Amino acid sequence: MGLFDSILKRFGNKEIDWDDLEAMLIGADLGAPLAMEIIDELQDLGRTLKTQDVLDRTREAVVNILPESVPGLQPLENGKPRVVLVAGVNGTGKTTSTAKLGYFLKQQGLSVMFAAADTFRAAAIEQLVSWAERTDIPIVKTQYQGDPSAVCYDAYEAAEKRGIQFLLADTAGRLHTRSNLMEELKKVRRTMGKKDPAAPHDRLLVVDATTGSNALAQAREFHAALDLTGLIITKLDGSGKGGMAVAIQQQLQIPTWFVGTGEKVDDFHQFERKDFVEEMI
Ligand code: GDP
Repeated sequence: MGLFDSILKRFGNKEIDWDDLEAMLIGADLGAPLAMEIIDELQDLGRTLKTQDVLDRTREAVVNILPESVPGLQPLENGKPRVVLVAGVNGTGKTTSTAKLGYFLKQQGLSVMFAAADTFRAAAIEQLVSWAERTDIPIVKTQYQGDPSAVCYDAYEAAEKRGIQFLLADTAGRLHTRSNLMEELKKVRRTMGKKDPAAPHDRLLVVDATTGSNALAQAREFHAALDLTGLIITKLDGSGKGGMAVAIQQQLQIPTWFVGTGEKVDDFHQFERKDFVEEMI
């Protein structure tokens, strides 16, 4: 059950219990600052509140934070590859989301190439190769434990030579230590910048909706290393709810670009606020 239905069910015609409301807002992963803001504003109304007031104010607060839609990925006008770096903690659905994004772009008639730069996990390379075969998208890879920056560099050259519009790089989600991972990602970014100073043009973080508020901590850490431009939120078909999109947008100003709603390649949609607020929070 989503947040709005839960609020309705919990309070109905009853008096609003502030502690319960706060717990529900925080439980929906909207973040403590927003939960407090909503409660303060409701209390400031200074009259007897109905459940509808709570629903209206909560919906309004969420709508004010989330952008209506996202611009979408357009190919570069100079004909060079637009590089999309996909990062995220292992298991969030990073490799699957890279494949889904490739398929999404290809369905729009755009040309795509994958760079298998999650070289820490042999299975990630195999997995992306398998998606590449199924979606008929070319891929550049190296062997297990190869240098991720080198793969991205080679892939860029291959994409440029072939006039490919989008290069999607699936990067590592884990290395021996966390700081190594962040250094490695920064190196990938610097290396791509040698080919095109604006590359990687998009730095997307994949977060798993079922991990709740942990996603905010992950976003903060990856943002410090990569200056993220957008989020992909996965597993919104499961027990996960998308409230963290609101917390991350409010606290870090990172918009959600895509949502994943299943394991199939087309279980993937561009963010639309209207659908998101009604169905995913
Ligand atoms: P990575 O380690 O982050 O690269 O994660 P993977 O791409 O290997 O995905 C981990 C698991 O999550 C796989 O079993 C995927 O099929 C599954 N997965 C990815 N995205 C979604 C999603 O949107 N919904 C569901 N239900 N499962 C997903």
